Amino acid sequence: MDSKNKNGLILIYTGNGKGKTTAALGTAFRSIGYDWNVCIVQFVKGNWKYGEMESVKLIPNIELHQMGKGFCKIMGDNIPESEHRSAAENALEFATEKMLSKKYELLILDEVFVAISTGILSEKKVIEFLKKKPNEMNLILTGRKATKKIIGIADLVTEMKEIKHPFKKNILAKKGIDY
Ligand code: ATP
Ligand code: MG
Repeated sequence: MDSKNKNGLILIYTGNGKGKTTAALGTAFRSIGYDWNVCIVQFVKGNWKYGEMESVKLIPNIELHQMGKGFCKIMGDNIPESEHRSAAENALEFATEKMLSKKYELLILDEVFVAISTGILSEKKVIEFLKKKPNEMNLILTGRKATKKIIGIADLVTEMKEIKHPFKKNILAKKGIDY
């Protein structure tokens, strides 16, 4: 771990507009320029291909773990809730191990707020996780519906606000832009 990086931050990207996951990935891209080690743990996502899954294979200092079971409670989801819940809990335990290993300067919990708001992950467990953060590590949490308590703990909170989205014109998610 980079010893010059003494005080890590907790950053949140939330809101209904597009750009939360891409803001986290953009920060990862920036930090890699300083030889930081980056670990991304994706909650909820699981049954879709995302460009970043291939991009990380091109960069040695970054790893991505897709640990969700796919969309929860929407889009024809027929996976039992208990399976979504154990996947989310497993992802948080995995992220805890990664965090305590102190091998990474940046850890990203992508869509963690979606896991909380759909009821498959307890907010309390995430708060306990945050309390264990090594001082020097940076943490990014993303997803719609960030909770008040976790916003209270974070150092930086940005809400993506939708002004326009092509979805409203029935333009579906685009390769390279949305996934
Ligand atoms: P991205 O991964 O593109 O940065 P995001 O993380 O901000 O998006 P999510 O809530 O994770 O957004 O949404 C997942 C998908 O939904 C993405 O493909 C994204 O483009 C799309 N999306 C984001 N915002 C909206 C919106 N306001 N209306 C419809 N679709 C959206
Ligand atoms: Mg996202």
